[in-house]
Amino acid sequence: METLKLQGLLDRIAAQMAAEPERGQVATYIPELAKIDPARFGIAVALASGEVLSAGDAAEAFSIQSISKVFTLAIALGRLGDQLWSRVGREPSGLAFNSILQLEQENGIPRNPFVNAGALAVTDAILQGHQPREILAELLRFIRLAADDDAIHINDAVARSEQATAHRNIALAEFMAAMGNLRNPSPLTIGTYVHQCAVEMSCRQLASAGRFLMGGKGSPRLVSPARMRRINALMMMCGHYDGSGEFAYQVGLPGKSGVGGGILAIAPNEASIAVWSPGLNHRGNSKLGTEAIEILAREMGWSVFD
Ligand code: GLN
Repeated sequence: METLKLQGLLDRIAAQMAAEPERGQVATYIPELAKIDPARFGIAVALASGEVLSAGDAAEAFSIQSISKVFTLAIALGRLGDQLWSRVGREPSGLAFNSILQLEQENGIPRNPFVNAGALAVTDAILQGHQPREILAELLRFIRLAADDDAIHINDAVARSEQATAHRNIALAEFMAAMGNLRNPSPLTIGTYVHQCAVEMSCRQLASAGRFLMGGKGSPRLVSPARMRRINALMMMCGHYDGSGEFAYQVGLPGKSGVGGGILAIAPNEASIAVWSPGLNHRGNSKLGTEAIEILAREMGWSVFD
């Protein structure tokens, strides 16, 4: 009965979002992403029972972009444990995802693992002593295991397209190198980073991959419960950059956005939610994606603040 109600709700949300004229702006600074049709909309919910419900374009693969930072963080914490925190902080930045401002003021230590500078530090940390292809293979292994789906892959055209226009990220990486917070030559770290961002998944695959952050019975144990809670805390405080406070206020769940228009949100013990709508708001987070998760969370009574 619950499932029927949820399926009806997802169908209603998808219909409402399909009819929405104001869809935000598709990211254009990565040329391949500029080609994506802003009319696309997909939503999927992986439940503790193991069921995955969805509506709209939920089987279509999209570029997960910064959502990949959740998976690399999980791998980095597994590899380095608390040592990682000597290289990156755990505070919200209150600034755009690609901002360079704080990096100089704070001696090359990025605020958190989800702003670009922080994600570059995390990727750099797991790359140390390895080849980029080994790290990307490990990332795909982790995501495929989490999603229980071996078809998940990296879109090379998207990676190359970002690589060719990665001036800001190169500036962030080089600045960190100057401050002694980069261990690999920056082209290796950037090359790995743009490929991790170019992982493609459908909403159904992403919702399934997020179950390891859900906890409870339906959650594959890829990280310890303590680490799972901490990754969720970081998603809550930093997952939407300078829009994190607004997302917490509107939605009330930990979430991570990407400039491909995807959002992964976690309702602890209940569900892993993925939504995709390519148009972004002025903070670079999916406009309709946020609205859709807000409706879903409200109607289902899902909040971490109950
Ligand atoms: N690959 C993108 C970048 O570095 C990711 C940013 C994002 O999704 N917010 O600009």
